[in-house]
Amino acid sequence: MATLYVIGTPIGNLEDITLRALRVLKEVDLVLCEDTRVTGRLLSKYEIDTPKMSYHAQSKLSKVDKILELLKEGKNLALVSDAGTPCISDPGVQLVAQVRERFGDEVSIVPIPGPSALITALSAAGISVAEFTFLGFLPHKKGRETLFKEIAVSPRVMVFYESTHRIEKALESLEKFCGPDRQVVVARELTKIYEEFVRGTISEARAHFSSNPDRVRGEFVVIVAGV
Ligand code: SAM
Repeated sequence: MATLYVIGTPIGNLEDITLRALRVLKEVDLVLCEDTRVTGRLLSKYEIDTPKMSYHAQSKLSKVDKILELLKEGKNLALVSDAGTPCISDPGVQLVAQVRERFGDEVSIVPIPGPSALITALSAAGISVAEFTFLGFLPHKKGRETLFKEIAVSPRVMVFYESTHRIEKALESLEKFCGPDRQVVVARELTKIYEEFVRGTISEARAHFSSNPDRVRGEFVVIVAGV
């Protein structure tokens, strides 16, 4: 029986990968990568020379057909994204759904857990996260304001992903909808050299980034305390 492994990979520090992930990446017939160059750096650090093939959000149906064909032939495949856990704001959801639909129990889909920026940020944020809502990336236009309004009245912790280009805008909108005093944690560059947790009110976080423009760089997880 063929297996599709869904493998979590590092979100920055290449040491953050499990022994099981490394073994499986060595053993499978093919690694499906969001970007073969990014995954290539991880594989070469661990001297893994398993063949790679790209699979990403823009992949055509013919690519999916090829992957399904390989599974039908009994090949074992690993699905990884550039960083973190596939399918979490990353490609893979449709592929996993299609494999389940097409093969049912004839192909095993096995998750190999690893890092995710969401959980990594929450683990060290220092706020109570017994319950939280994960919003992924906020939409750029349609629905954006509605989400900020939801965040403003939510009794639960809300978490979202943000990019360098939009972090200041996002904090500005948070201040507009939630007021300046709501507690936030902005986790930046997790597991990397410039890892940083900015904790405080929304207005303090805004002030931090506006007075340190060199820190408006990298990747961000924003955690907003509930009302
Ligand atoms: N699949 C990934 C995961 O499991 O976390 C998420 C991929 S998503 C395309 C990329 C976003 O995740 C970034 O824009 C950022 O919001 C967040 N992210 C990824 N790595 C991060 C890091 N090292 N530090 C902070 N945020 C990170």
